[in-house]
Amino acid sequence: MSLSPEDRRLGLDRPITRRDFLNGVALAVGGGAGGFAQAADDPGAPGSPGGFAGQTLAAAAWMHARRDGAPRPEPPPFDAAEGETADLVVVGAGISGLAAAWLYRRHGPRDARVLVLDALPEPGGHAQRNEFVARDGRRVIGYGGSEALDSPSLWSPATQRVIRELGIDLKRFQTWYDAGWLERHGLVQHATWFDAASWGEAKLVRHPPDMRPAEWVAQLPLKAAARADLLALLEGRRDPFPRWPRARKRARLAELTYERFVVETLGLDPQVAQFYNARTRSLIGVGADATSALDAWALGLPGFDAMKLGDAPDARMSPSGRQAKAGRDEYIYHFPDGNAGVVRCLLRALVPDCFPDARTDIESLVVARRDDAALDVPGAPVRIRLNASVVDVRHAGGDPRRARAVDVAWADAQGTLRTVRARQVVLACFHRAIPFMCPELPAAQVEALNDQVKVPLIYGNVLLGNWRAFKRAGIPAIRTPGLVWDEMRLDFPVSIGDYRFADDPSEPVLLHLGAVVLDGPRGAPERAQCAAGRRRLAALRFEDLEREIRATLDGALGEFGFDAARDIEAITLNRWAHGYAYEYMRPWDDFWPDGPLPCVAARRGWGRIAIANADAGAYAYVQGAIDQAARAVAELLPSAKLPPWWTTPGPRLHDLAR
Ligand SMILES: Cc1cc2nc3c(=O)[nH]c(=O)nc-3n(C[C@H](O)[C@H](O)[C@H](O)COP(=O)(O)OP(=O)(O)OC[C@H]3O[C@@H](n4cnc5c(N)ncnc54)[C@H](O)[C@@H]3O)c2cc1C
Repeated sequence: MSLSPEDRRLGLDRPITRRDFLNGVALAVGGGAGGFAQAADDPGAPGSPGGFAGQTLAAAAWMHARRDGAPRPEPPPFDAAEGETADLVVVGAGISGLAAAWLYRRHGPRDARVLVLDALPEPGGHAQRNEFVARDGRRVIGYGGSEALDSPSLWSPATQRVIRELGIDLKRFQTWYDAGWLERHGLVQHATWFDAASWGEAKLVRHPPDMRPAEWVAQLPLKAAARADLLALLEGRRDPFPRWPRARKRARLAELTYERFVVETLGLDPQVAQFYNARTRSLIGVGADATSALDAWALGLPGFDAMKLGDAPDARMSPSGRQAKAGRDEYIYHFPDGNAGVVRCLLRALVPDCFPDARTDIESLVVARRDDAALDVPGAPVRIRLNASVVDVRHAGGDPRRARAVDVAWADAQGTLRTVRARQVVLACFHRAIPFMCPELPAAQVEALNDQVKVPLIYGNVLLGNWRAFKRAGIPAIRTPGLVWDEMRLDFPVSIGDYRFADDPSEPVLLHLGAVVLDGPRGAPERAQCAAGRRRLAALRFEDLEREIRATLDGALGEFGFDAARDIEAITLNRWAHGYAYEYMRPWDDFWPDGPLPCVAARRGWGRIAIANADAGAYAYVQGAIDQAARAVAELLPSAKLPPWWTTPGPRLHDLAR
């Protein structure tokens, strides 16, 4: 890679730590004369104690080979004399698989032996930690995937119970999360960065939340007509369906995308829709060009005031839309490593020796070293085996109704195949992987499993030596409509135990960058945009993303003293090709909300096998992963007397009244 003088001014030639994980596998970053210089040591590299490796290419290789037409590998027959056995084999060590293992151990057969297999070199699936050591020697912990526990007041009794029994007392976040931090440092302004390529002019627009729209809209680098239309939208005085009853208005909004609502129904300038397009991406998984106007309303986008739509969620909203409309919880339930903190709690509950330095509290767990050698010890009641790709799952003897066991064939990192025999199995991996490993499935179920098209995302962490420029600008975050990133935001102000958040602006801090990576024609259904986005996600070059990050921060914050070459100490990109579970939504899914839902057909267990994973609820949250684990384990234990919290339905988001 050759660098221009401008690249050098921005610091692309600086020897910082650069990490790039495509689905978690560490990719080579740049290199060559005049290109990137890597920092000499990388304490957070994969395999090191603070390292992260999410979904890896090696891990995906078996499933991708099958997708590309490779024949089903011939599993070695189970060796009755010496072969490994378990009462339960769980495929997938994400939150759903680990929760299933935990529930089975608590309420399944006495002294059940559980083996969890995962293709990755790290447990946790989507919930992963990124770790850094700043130049001043400070250890900085961030999240590379799943961010925070969301809307606990809407959780089912089962999720509430599991989280509580893991030792996570949600009330503690009231003190761990510094609610006064923003005000104390004057980080109270909204900020949007308009890049020249998308908007014709490079400009940072800041304004206090209570500023009159007329004042801040006047500063936006939009066409004059678009500014006037945006103001009209924000004032929300127009009801396009004045004579319709509320129910009919809602029904109509479910059938329109927000973009069509703005441009066609209200007749406003398309630049207005462009301005809001990225706003829905991080929650709904697609831009406002493909999000229903009803979901956009739930998320607080403007234009609906005069329509008097009421306050209640609507069954036609996507689960995330309903949750946003119904939710009353603060967004504070965040461990420094995001929901990888929940994974740590699950691991400790399953394999108590895997955090040898931790006490029984949460505080010490946050900074504790994980001993991966303890995860898979012969004779232990729970074994968690990493780098183990499951390639074949079928009932021993062939007939699921009569079989007394299931044979699970898995490949180790060298590609050697082995077969373990289990009394029962939970498949807690992605739904689309299941048909490749299970020859027993009927075609209709394969079709239902393949309906899950996950949302591709990148979560970036940029380690800054300090956050003085943010303080001077009075902003905690910058929206970036037009860039691949949706937003750049200073890390959560969370301190737990010995781990302290960077309260002082002179301290190193992480800047979190989130992007839902989509592609294809505007206004295409989410599934199509995600499938095309997955290809784009793999093709985006680290150096181009780094250049954009540096140029954006330099352009937006240069006047406040930010120097990209000096202040950026490390960049980690976590590319999640198979990210959020797809959530059903109007106007694309005719079966939503009345059914029949593909996920219900997809998750049907058979014989001694049950299906978990967030995909099984088509609901991309930790609580979705745990609820599906509880359902799957209950299916395997039909004669067990399960406690009421397990079987009592909560305010399930699929069942909200219309
Ligand atoms: C970037 C991102 C941010 C998110 N943010 C939030 C948030 O803020 N709050 C929230 O509540 N939820 C969030 N979510 C969603 C939430 O994290 C997920 O719903 C949950 O973690 C999914 O857990 P899971 O166990 O169902 O699936 P996964 O975590 O995907 O685990 C599945 C596991 O199966 C393994 N596997 C797949 N194939 C095989 C095979 N053949 N053999 C062996 N193993 C296999 C995979 O390696 C993986 O580890 C986020 C998700 C992403 C991707």
